[in-house]
Amino acid sequence: MNNKNLYIVRCGEVALKGMNKPYFERVLLERVRAAVRVIDPEAELKWIDGLMFARVDRTLPRETVIRTISRVFGIASVSPAVEAEKDIEKIGETAADFMMELMEEEDIKTFKVKAKRADKNFPIPSPEIGRIVGAKILKRAKVLRVDVHEPDCQIFVDVRREGAYVFRDKIKGFGGLPLGTNGRGLILMSGGIDSPVAAFMMAKRGMRIDAVHFHSYPYTSPMAQKKVERLCGVLAGYMGTLRMHVVNLLPIQEEIVKNCPEEETTILVRRFMMRIAESIAEKQKDMMLITGEDLGQVASQTAEALVVTDAVVKMPVMRPLIAMDKVDIIDKAKEIGTYDISIEPYEDCCTVFLPKHPVTKPKLERIEHSEAKLDVETLVKNAVESAEIVEIGPDAYALS
Ligand code: ATP
Ligand code: MG
Repeated sequence: MNNKNLYIVRCGEVALKGMNKPYFERVLLERVRAAVRVIDPEAELKWIDGLMFARVDRTLPRETVIRTISRVFGIASVSPAVEAEKDIEKIGETAADFMMELMEEEDIKTFKVKAKRADKNFPIPSPEIGRIVGAKILKRAKVLRVDVHEPDCQIFVDVRREGAYVFRDKIKGFGGLPLGTNGRGLILMSGGIDSPVAAFMMAKRGMRIDAVHFHSYPYTSPMAQKKVERLCGVLAGYMGTLRMHVVNLLPIQEEIVKNCPEEETTILVRRFMMRIAESIAEKQKDMMLITGEDLGQVASQTAEALVVTDAVVKMPVMRPLIAMDKVDIIDKAKEIGTYDISIEPYEDCCTVFLPKHPVTKPKLERIEHSEAKLDVETLVKNAVESAEIVEIGPDAYALS
């Protein structure tokens, strides 16, 4: 046990899942195990009374372990911790050792101890535990001062039924629910800022994600696709290998440009994207489509345009960003690590044949009237059949 460091891991909503709690806990443990195995194949993990205890190779920097665990969906927070015998003297000594270790890693001048006694059989009440442990720490680390308002470091003492634990800060995870507990969806992935964030948000709620990407080669460059693959690589770091279907939209775009009013090009292209995506989703057993659309962001995302886009598919279309402001989407993209890739300048298929004055309030009957000039079924069928599949795992693109 000495060659391992202890981490206390708290789950978020999993704890609220009532009758299904054992199921969610089991899946969450599996997800954390899979993530931690990559850095320590011998790591030990188990649930005890609603907390997950992870014992991970001592030689690994705590920061690496925390980053690995906290990015697993369903994790509310992680704390580096140490275990102590359930004896107040021992708890005090352990806390003092722990503090000395922390002081080697960072500049700590003030601290505070907060104790909790979940095990009421333990003879000393919480405030008293806090006082005794605080005194032990002060005796050992003479340079420290107690600051109850704004301490550099908070030490928590948790006396539980199965043991006593000393830990510091709760480092926040992403929250959400364990991957695989909420169906499967297909993200329409452009190389932009929005769609990777949309995929992340659905996966965070437990949904497994497949992807479809449209290009207009040779109008769009192969680098544009590589960029999308790199975005998927970052996402795969959170949600495991992504299967991406890659479709050349050019034959359809050319038909639209040849036969339909120019100002309707964008909305017509979008409806084809949705049809193709729905067909791929059905094959993949994806239950819903996901886009990075955001109300009013561009001409194709007005309320009217969204209604006309949706009317073409039966499958539910999820738009997790619909009511977010762009600045907040950008912040999220930065937080999850997709932003820098998203802003690389490669053309998206949507910008090929972009009309000068796109309709912003399309009428469904008019759009359907224009589509009647096209052999929609064959165009969609050909596109779906020509789709290439790329599997993108997290290992291919190192996470920063
Ligand atoms: P993003 O930042 O995700 O590119 P955007 O603001 O540029 O979004 P649009 O280009 O209008 O918006 O696209 C809206 C949504 O349509 C995207 O979020 C994505 O879900 C989908 N989409 C757009 N282009 C493509 C593409 N080339 N392949 C797959 N899906 C696409
Ligand atoms: Mg885009």
